[in-house]
Amino acid sequence: MKFKPANNIQDLQYFGEFGGVNPSISDSSTYTFLSAKTMFDTFEGNADGCYLYSRHTTPSNLYLGEALAAMEGTETATVTASGMGAITPVLFQLCGAGEHIVSSRTIYGGTYAFLKNFAPRMGINTTFVDITKLDVVEAAITPKTKVLYCESVSNPLLEVADIKGLAALAKKHNLKLVVDNTFSPLSVSPINSGADIVIHSLTKFINGSSDTVGGVVCGTQEFIDSLKSVIDGAAMLLGSTMDSLRAASILKNLRTLHIRMQQHSLNATYLAENFEKDGIKTVYPGLASHPSHNLFKSMMNEKYGFGGMMTLDVGSLDKANALMELMQERNLGYLAVSLGFYKTLFSAPGSSTSSEIPEDEQKEMGLSDGLIRFSIGLDADIERTYQLMKTCMIELNIL
Ligand SMILES: *Cc1c(COP(=O)(O)O)cnc(C)c1O
Repeated sequence: MKFKPANNIQDLQYFGEFGGVNPSISDSSTYTFLSAKTMFDTFEGNADGCYLYSRHTTPSNLYLGEALAAMEGTETATVTASGMGAITPVLFQLCGAGEHIVSSRTIYGGTYAFLKNFAPRMGINTTFVDITKLDVVEAAITPKTKVLYCESVSNPLLEVADIKGLAALAKKHNLKLVVDNTFSPLSVSPINSGADIVIHSLTKFINGSSDTVGGVVCGTQEFIDSLKSVIDGAAMLLGSTMDSLRAASILKNLRTLHIRMQQHSLNATYLAENFEKDGIKTVYPGLASHPSHNLFKSMMNEKYGFGGMMTLDVGSLDKANALMELMQERNLGYLAVSLGFYKTLFSAPGSSTSSEIPEDEQKEMGLSDGLIRFSIGLDADIERTYQLMKTCMIELNIL
């Protein structure tokens, strides 16, 4: 039977301690033990079901982790204080001084800055490659390489990674394939294509309310245990712990993710098809003109569509800025970074979220000045939104 990620979330059943339909929120940083022996065993990692200290884990964090593991089809998961708080411990857990990472060059600006500027201070070096070219990826692998890193749909250029092809390379060279699936929750299930570890920034579509940051690492029990180890676990020791109150609120939002993703995809598809027809340079994985359209199609859980992210190139940074300001003035969305909100969010990545990437490198990867990244909202009447956006473009001589 084909993997149906939203069913897996739906099928989980939790009750509060008084029969509440939501699990109780654990409001404690530390936990008592009935015997000193159990405390010792818990430190040794041999007392399942016992809680130690909330930097390690909490009941609320385990509930959310379990739901996200069910969504991604992994054995288990651990939640973290932010997406970066998931990415950095994973890479430190998998790589030490002298070891090497091969990463897509079109990744989230923060991840890029971490790999390029910070990890080298720890003796970990990264080669950035065009992830859509498997021969280029393989050529970058050295005997020191431990990790292949990519985003299923990349930020901000919406390149699609051939996860099956990358997984085969990872297997051949004994590497771990780490996939950031933040842009395509439910639509893409990287584990189905052979990824080893799946990461999300929960800040975006999964929480969907732009009211918190959060992250998750989904993987095998063995790997997640190693991340949380009190002896040498990067998640435990670097301390990017999620708060229980937040875990409980994200879990509640997760339950409507399947409906939201369908609406984000529907709206983005409508706008992308129409703006492309109008002659605007439009990038959306759902368009037949997208270089990886068929690849995305071959990986996707169809019901959830091609996602809510789209880019339009309006020719110059000045025009992009003028358009974004006008759209905000007319309440068509917000000039803001981040994604997955009920309102459309837009920004010019070259001068914002990807400004960590040097200008010449931006040019080389096709990140042009006039590019606007859109996270399309849940608008109930997308035809009206389209007409109003088009009016703005006509007034600014973009159309
Ligand atoms: C936002 C984002 C991150 C970082 O997540 P935070 O929650 O902001 O730390 C990582 N990867 C992608 C693709 C993102 O969009």
